[in-house]
Amino acid sequence: MSETIFSKIIRREVPAEIVYEDDQCLAFRDIDPQAPTHVLIIPKEPIRSLSELEEEHQALAGHLLLTAAKVAADLGLDSGYRLVTNCGKEGGQAVDHLHFHLLGGRAMQWPPG
Ligand code: AMP
Repeated sequence: MSETIFSKIIRREVPAEIVYEDDQCLAFRDIDPQAPTHVLIIPKEPIRSLSELEEEHQALAGHLLLTAAKVAADLGLDSGYRLVTNCGKEGGQAVDHLHFHLLGGRAMQWPPG
């Protein structure tokens, strides 16, 4: 796949405020926050989107979700939060590297726009 800005963040070629990292994933603050807390959780493997996940990624997918919950707890989102992944053009995906948006610190609306 073609490289995205997130690969450069993983390699520390582009600065980001990293809040969590391990061998499989990275979490950093969104540059254009849509809530008081807005963190992106990404795999280090450059998978384009949720729809590109394969059976071989089952453990990684679970790890990303567990990491999101851990980061939410670490950041004190005790009143709740929202986890979103935008997938494809109509899903509103702008960066073609799988990422989960962790949003918190305010009451969320439903339905989303
Ligand atoms: P999406 O529209 O779901 O693809 O979300 C991409 C997200 O990446 C947006 O919320 C952007 O604000 C965020 N983003 C883009 N570039 C950066 C960056 N250099 N550092 C942090 N977040 C970024």
